Amino acid sequence: MKSAKFDYTRPHDVRAAIHALADALGEAKFLAGGQSLGPMLNLRLTRPKLLVDVSRIEALRSIDVVNGSIRIGAAVTHAEIEDAGASLARNAMLPAVAREIAYRTIRNRGTIGGSLAHADPAADWPLALAALDAVIIVNGPAGQRSIPSARFMLAAFTTQLADDEMIEAIIVPELSPSARWGTYKFCKRTGEFPDAAAMAVFDPARRIARVYVGALSGAPVPLDALARGIAQQGAVALTATAVDRAIAMAVPELDAVGRKMHAATTMRAVQQALAS
Ligand SMILES: Cc1cc2nc3c(=O)[nH]c(=O)nc-3n(C[C@H](O)[C@H](O)[C@H](O)COP(=O)(O)OP(=O)(O)OC[C@H]3O[C@@H](n4cnc5c(N)ncnc54)[C@H](O)[C@@H]3O)c2cc1C
Repeated sequence: MKSAKFDYTRPHDVRAAIHALADALGEAKFLAGGQSLGPMLNLRLTRPKLLVDVSRIEALRSIDVVNGSIRIGAAVTHAEIEDAGASLARNAMLPAVAREIAYRTIRNRGTIGGSLAHADPAADWPLALAALDAVIIVNGPAGQRSIPSARFMLAAFTTQLADDEMIEAIIVPELSPSARWGTYKFCKRTGEFPDAAAMAVFDPARRIARVYVGALSGAPVPLDALARGIAQQGAVALTATAVDRAIAMAVPELDAVGRKMHAATTMRAVQQALAS
C-alpha cells in the first residue's frame, strides 16, 4: 500500500517548523528520518495533510558539550552519535547505545528525537536516557520547557509532548571518571527490536545509582531498591534472587518467560557495569 497524498515543507529553523505545524491545525506531522513514520504512512495508520521535515534544521543537527552536559539536537542520527567519538568521551554510553540500534542503514536515518517522540516501548533511547538522567527540551507555540527523560514517555507510543510541540534537544549529563555503566538487550534476531533490555548507571561522584528495564509494554521501569543496594554493598547485592524479586515487584504483569528474560538482561547489564 502507498501513503495517502500529503504536502511537504522543509523549514530552515525551529520557529518556522513550529509555525508550520501549528498552522496546519492538527493535520501535520514532523518528519525526521522517516524510519517509523514512513511505514506508518504507507500502512495508512496516519494520514497527515502536511509533513514538516525537520531533518536539516541546523539547530537540531549538532552535538555540543556545554557546562558539563552534552546537548544533542533532536535530528542527530543514531549513526552520528555512534561516530561522535571524541566529543562523547565523557559519556561513552551514548555511542555504545547507538551502535546497538538495529543496523547501520536504519541508524543512518533514524534520529534520537524521532525515537523519543515515537516512544516504541522496545526502543533504546527512552531506556538509556532514563538511566542517564537526561532532560528533554521541547519547544512549541507556548515556548520551551524541560522534561526529565524518566517522565517523558507515559505509555506505549504516548509521551508528554503536546500535539503542537517538537523535541528540540536532549541534555545528557557528562559522567564522572569513576562512573560505571552497562547495557544489555536480548533480540531474537540481530537488528530487530529487543524482547528484553536493561541499562545500569552507577556514578558515585554524582550520587547516581540507576537500573532500568525496558522493552516492556509501556515506559521503561526503574529498579531503585536494587540499584541502591548495589551502590551501597557492591556485587554481593547482585544475586539472582534480588534481581528476580526486583523485577517481580516492579513489573508484576510479566509472565514467567518475560520475568526470566528481563532478569537475565538486568543481571548482565549490571554485571557489565560492575566489571567496567
Ligand atoms: C527495521 C527497524 C528496526 C529498528 N530497530 C530499532 C532498535 O533496535 N532500537 C531502537 O531504538 N529503534 C529501532 N528502530 C527505530 C529507529 O531507530 C528510529 O529511531 C525510529 O524509527 C524513529 O525514526 P526517525 O527518527 O526516522 O523518526 P520519524 O520516523 O521521522 O518520526 C517518528 C515520529 O516522531 C515524530 N518526530 C520526529 N522528530 C520529531 C521531533 N524532533 N519532535 C517531535 N516529534 C518528532 C514524527 O512526527 C513521528 O510521529 C528500528 C526501526 C526499523 C525500521
